Amino acid sequence: MPKHSPRQLDPRAPLVLDTRDLPRRPGALRELRRVVTAPADLGVELISVPEGADLDLDLRLQSVSEGVLVSGTVAGPVKGECGRCLREIDDSVVVNVQELYAYEDSTTDETTDEDEVGRMQGDLIDLEPALRDAVVLALPTNPLCREDCPGLCPECGVHWDDLPADHSHQQIDPRWAGLSQLNRTEE
Ligand SMILES: [Zn+2]
Ligand SMILES: [Zn+2]
Repeated sequence: MPKHSPRQLDPRAPLVLDTRDLPRRPGALRELRRVVTAPADLGVELISVPEGADLDLDLRLQSVSEGVLVSGTVAGPVKGECGRCLREIDDSVVVNVQELYAYEDSTTDETTDEDEVGRMQGDLIDLEPALRDAVVLALPTNPLCREDCPGLCPECGVHWDDLPADHSHQQIDPRWAGLSQLNRTEE
């Protein structure tokens, strides 16, 4: 029994890379350009890549002595909500990926943990976990529709952009509120 038995990878899955045509000779190189569909939940709570959106993979697969080094970029659209004003954000993200995947039963496979170095399953590489990590790191936890978004008026909930500069809600200063209370009892 192998000491790790991850779920069987599906070679047709969008983020599974097949290295069959990459010679297992250190230095051998393959370029991989492909457009795939984004999996669900790729991102963070307020902003993420919509499920099914096009992801542009632009990768290099390079044989090294113990496995395959995958490097390159993945680009795709992101949609989210401004953390200050809740307006929709339509943006895009480009992440760098660089990850080593060890051959099964290589020394690296025997001597490292799976969370340190990725693993190949036969000729297959599951890019999804590394891509998820990269996307989550690249996206802001508190996204803004623009850097200086002023947010909403806490009183009426209207965007400050849509309010006149002198917008305010007449409020009795709490220090005077007590006085007006006094006046009323005197009446
Ligand atoms: Zn905003
Ligand atoms: Zn207001």
